[in-house]
Amino acid sequence: MLNGYRFEMIIGCMSAGKSSELIRRIERARLAYLPTIIFRSATDTRSKPNHVESRNGLASQAIVVDSAREMLKYSTQAVVIGIDECQFFDEDLVDVVQLLLRQKKKVIASGLDLDYRGKPFGSVPYLLALADRIDKLLAVCRKCGSDFACRTQRVVQSSEQILVGDSQYEARCIHCFEPPFEYQLKLELPELVTVKPQIVMLESGS
Ligand SMILES: [Zn+2]
Repeated sequence: MLNGYRFEMIIGCMSAGKSSELIRRIERARLAYLPTIIFRSATDTRSKPNHVESRNGLASQAIVVDSAREMLKYSTQAVVIGIDECQFFDEDLVDVVQLLLRQKKKVIASGLDLDYRGKPFGSVPYLLALADRIDKLLAVCRKCGSDFACRTQRVVQSSEQILVGDSQYEARCIHCFEPPFEYQLKLELPELVTVKPQIVMLESGS
């Protein structure tokens, strides 16, 4: 039996390897013969039915659910529970995760921490506050090639928070990220004044 409950989160922008890391951790538990289960929201239509897939070709069986509460129906036997793309779930997810932890299950959730505007995504910030371990993965920036991409750039016009698909997005670093105009930073910063240091020569003997 699993010794103690725990809640782990794997977050970051798109193409950072979140789903493959989730699959790796679940497979690791399976090798130890722990009963595992992975859930995916029906909102995410990219993977083939009843599977969770990563972009580097890893795949694992998953149960597709319409709501966070539906996970409780299927998870009674599981000891380790994976939740892929947790930003797509409704706000009940926060309570559902806490209930699963009270049932002494280990929960591993992966997902986007920020949406296309660079704002915290759905229930994810609440889940991060509850997590015992957080791994924030970075991708390679599609624009400048830096190793520090942490934002998901939408490359098509749409103001829907959820727009499912890979071709509409690319990973960008914070310097190359261009949020929609209304979400750009509008801080009124004070003008920089250059002050030349003055050297005061003291008279000798004074
Ligand atoms: Zn960049």
